[in-house]
Amino acid sequence: MTLTFSYVGPTDLLSLPVQGSVIASREDFETWVSRVDTRELFTYIVDVSGRLRLAPRQSEHVACAGGEDVLGAGEIAFDDSTVSYVSNQSTGYCPSLASWPAVQAAFDRLGLTHPAGFTVEFVFRRCGVCGELTVVKESDFVCGFCDADLDCPVTFLDVDGTLLRYGHEPAEISPDIASFLSSLPGHLVWATAWLEDANDAISPVLGLPRLPVVAWHDVPEDGLHWKTRDIVAWAAGRAFVWIDDELTDVDRDWVGAFHPGPALLHRVDSAVGLTRDDAEIIESWLTTR
Ligand SMILES: [Zn+2]
Repeated sequence: MTLTFSYVGPTDLLSLPVQGSVIASREDFETWVSRVDTRELFTYIVDVSGRLRLAPRQSEHVACAGGEDVLGAGEIAFDDSTVSYVSNQSTGYCPSLASWPAVQAAFDRLGLTHPAGFTVEFVFRRCGVCGELTVVKESDFVCGFCDADLDCPVTFLDVDGTLLRYGHEPAEISPDIASFLSSLPGHLVWATAWLEDANDAISPVLGLPRLPVVAWHDVPEDGLHWKTRDIVAWAAGRAFVWIDDELTDVDRDWVGAFHPGPALLHRVDSAVGLTRDDAEIIESWLTTR
C-alpha cells in the first residue's frame, strides 16, 4: 500500500511538455548539481517508483511528473549536496504531510543528507461549502473564498445503492432522509459517479444547496475501492464520514493507515438504501466523536 497523489490543478497544464531531470542515482545527482546554481529553489516531485525528479522552480509540478501521480511534490533547495530546504508546496498535487516518508526515502536512496522533516509544512484543504482549494496559513482553518470553516467534519455521500435504491427515482427518497441530510453537522459533499448531475437532479429534490463534488482520478487496485484515495485526499486530515454501499475492510484499513483524522466508513445495504437506522449511527458518530 502506498499513498499517491493525483494532479488536481487546471487541466490545461496537463498538455505541458515534460520538464526536469530524473535523478535515478547518486551519479545523476552529482551531474545535475554540477550544472545548476544551488542557491536557487527548485521544483521536485517523487514519482510513483520512488525516484526524485528535479526541475527549475518556475516549472509546474505536473510537467515535472509528466502528468502522472506522485508520492510527493514541493520545493527544494540544496547546500552543495545537502538538502537545505524541502517543502510540500504544490497546489497541483496538494500532497499531505503524510508524503514525507516517501520524500525521505527518495533522498536516502541517493545518499543525500536532509532535514528530519519538511522545513516548511503546507496544509491544503478543499472547502466543504464552495469546493475551492485553500492553503491553510498558520493553522487558520478558514476558506479564503467563502469564510467557511475548513476544519469541521465532512460527510461524503454516494448515490446509487446508497441514497437511491437501485431502480428508484430521487423523488422517492424519504422526507426523513432529506431532513437528516439537511441537518447534519459539518459539510455534505457528493461522492458519486453522478458527479455534477447529483446537484442538478438530487439536491433540489432534497431541499439541499448545490454541494461540492469529489472528482475521481483513480483506478481499482488491491481490492481498494476506486473512490478511497480521492476521498482521503479530499478530506485532507479532517474528520469524515463516508456513506456508501460498496465499502469493505480494505478501505477501512487503507483509511486507517493514510488518514490522520477520525473517520467513519458506513456501509449501507444496497437492497434497502440509506435508512433511519443508518442516519442515527452517523448522526451519533458526528456529534459524539
Ligand atoms: Zn469556501
